[in-house]
Amino acid sequence: MENRRANALLRALAGQNAQGAVLVKPSNVRWLSGYMGEGLLVLTEKGMTVVTDFRYVEAAEKQAPGCAVRSIAAGVPHEKIAAEVLHEAGVKTAAFEDDVVTVRSMRALTDASERIAYEPLKTRPEKLRAVKDADEIAAIEEACGISCKAFERILEKIRPGVTEREIAFALEDEFRALGAEGTAFETIVAAGENGSLPHAIPGSRVIENGMLVTMDFGARVRGYCSDMTRTVAVGKISDEQKRVYDSVLEAHLRAMEAIRPGAVGRDVDEVARGYLRSCGYEFGHSLGHGVGLDIHEEPRLSTRSDDVLEPGNVVTDEPGVYLPGKCGCRIEDSVLVTKDGCRSLIPAAKELITL
Ligand code: ZN
Ligand code: ZN
Repeated sequence: MENRRANALLRALAGQNAQGAVLVKPSNVRWLSGYMGEGLLVLTEKGMTVVTDFRYVEAAEKQAPGCAVRSIAAGVPHEKIAAEVLHEAGVKTAAFEDDVVTVRSMRALTDASERIAYEPLKTRPEKLRAVKDADEIAAIEEACGISCKAFERILEKIRPGVTEREIAFALEDEFRALGAEGTAFETIVAAGENGSLPHAIPGSRVIENGMLVTMDFGARVRGYCSDMTRTVAVGKISDEQKRVYDSVLEAHLRAMEAIRPGAVGRDVDEVARGYLRSCGYEFGHSLGHGVGLDIHEEPRLSTRSDDVLEPGNVVTDEPGVYLPGKCGCRIEDSVLVTKDGCRSLIPAAKELITL
């Protein structure tokens, strides 16, 4: 097969004595084949087959030109056709994504053919996806550029009297105006006390003088996500708020220094976490995560992560401090691991912006 990604997965399958795989997770299907519609993907030595229904046949042929396309007849489950494709390719053992396949789908697969054994994928496509190629990096970088430009454009809108929701909508409008497909995830805008909720939903809270406003957002380009967070001050903030901001920024910068090939996820996490601890702060979430077709991917930068960074990984560096009832602050870049270190894909400034 021509497809490098499919060949890499086939090699991994051979390592567990499987000759084929059935894939259903949309980001895995898209990464392997280009197909973006409903249905599933069968991978064997003979090639890849998209199994779908008549509504998606044309899209599948266009999006996944390297794949065969089979359309199901009414009342026939996709799994039955998948089992046929596996059988025709002489597959005895097929792997599946045991983290996403439903019980019903698994039953349909085993009912369709007794001659094929199914085993969970040992090397998941997500592992292979963690190292991005040049096209993927270009898409992520474009999405990051759009996010930064949108941020710069909406800064003038952040002032007393404006609601969190208005800022979120303004950001998302700019993404589209700047050529993004849409958002990579639900935009977070958290002002004042709401800033202490890492995943605050933007509401009708009105921005007031003396608040820190945290915005976590990302545009999507050619399926790829960007992820960034900036916290800005509105009017005069307290010494405590300033200290929170400076501590988070220093933790962010120190972690960035630690992101390089060979670094272990938990060690990078500890660089930021340990620094904030020395300032008397704690943060409840992990330092960062991979970014790609999914907003949260491998590798992970967390207290429990054994993931070893490699060139081509794109990870976030996003320490935060949250003081319940007072304020919150987070600063986040999407960062590319390079041969000898890392490079932030987020050109937006990090010094405190006061509006
Ligand atoms: Zn984020
Ligand atoms: Zn993130």
